[in-house]
Amino acid sequence: NQRKPPAPANKGQKPAPEPSNIRNYDKPWRANTKPEGEKAAKKGEGEKSSFLESVYPDGVGPDTDLIQALERDMLDKNPNICFDDIADLDEAKMLLQEAVLLPILMPDFFKGIRRPWRGVLMFGPPGTGKTMLAKAIATLGETTFFNVSASTLGSKWRGESEKLVRLLFEMAKFYAPTTIFFDEIDALGGKRGDSNECEASRRVKTEMLVQMDGVGSSEDEESKRIIVLAATNRPWDLDEALRRRLEKRVYIPLPSDNGRRKLFEIYLNSLEKSDDINWDYLVEKSQGYSGADIANVCRDAAMMPMRKKLAEIRSKGINAKIIEQIKDKVNVPLCMDDMKEALNNVSRSVSNDDLGRYEEWMKEFGST
Ligand code: ADP
Repeated sequence: NQRKPPAPANKGQKPAPEPSNIRNYDKPWRANTKPEGEKAAKKGEGEKSSFLESVYPDGVGPDTDLIQALERDMLDKNPNICFDDIADLDEAKMLLQEAVLLPILMPDFFKGIRRPWRGVLMFGPPGTGKTMLAKAIATLGETTFFNVSASTLGSKWRGESEKLVRLLFEMAKFYAPTTIFFDEIDALGGKRGDSNECEASRRVKTEMLVQMDGVGSSEDEESKRIIVLAATNRPWDLDEALRRRLEKRVYIPLPSDNGRRKLFEIYLNSLEKSDDINWDYLVEKSQGYSGADIANVCRDAAMMPMRKKLAEIRSKGINAKIIEQIKDKVNVPLCMDDMKEALNNVSRSVSNDDLGRYEEWMKEFGST
């Protein structure tokens, strides 16, 4: 029987292409040029016309490239993650549901003093499930999901990024309800006034602030159905004005003992295992590991039988014929020695110093 490798640990973030040309933005940009009634009717049929079509009925206009890039690189049509895929983090799951899902599902209740948070920040060590949580929220709420890497916005789209932000929010309104997830938000919202901050990034940041102020504004119904979620591993680098707009700040910590047990179960689930797997030992030895670290341990362990087999024949060199001979022999159950070796190979990626910093920041700025 075929062994399946564990799910990939990387975020699958696609690199955004370089903009094909740099244009000037003096021309005012208008989104929905179709009459409201027509748009609503189309949406009502359950078949949304595309955003591009709504802006340029012929499909061509000065911003066609940017719109297409947004759809191609940031619009995730199928985030398809459920809470059960995410180990641990029960508190964060509760908080996020209350802070971002309910306001979308029951907007009438979230009025006045109960108005929804303008934006929600998830902060904590890398590889702890922040992106997965954002995707799960988008999946649960059946919202359109934009996955925006703030560092890509600031670098690859330099020159166009300010306009891209504006387009992004217009597009989010068009496809509402929408979750916009800004990963590495610190890359965009670094402290203002830093000596190395250039004019362009100042403008992008300002545009972000303006757009976030528009989210949930009373005069615009569509904007009420936009969720702004952001994540950072470096909350202390966040610009103050941006931090203020991310009103709810949720700490996503390293996994607890139970969480690590669940993570090992998730990642070893699809592998054949021998009876000697000592789960308590795995939990104890992985203290301080992030979810991504544990995924890496499991991936490394899953490769062990293959590595051992290859080591035996290394002197002969690898070729198609040899691979054919060993192919079936590497599919042996994973044993505890493989796990121990993998735990030795993969060390924890988050230091105690960093953990201390997150906790300090949580005390000062976090929400509970
Ligand atoms: P972050 O956004 O916090 O840096 P991600 O959500 O991108 O981290 O997680 C990176 C990878 O680590 C995921 O693809 C997954 O394989 C694994 N992972 C991290 N935390 C968890 C978790 N709580 N449950 C399941 N897998 C996790």
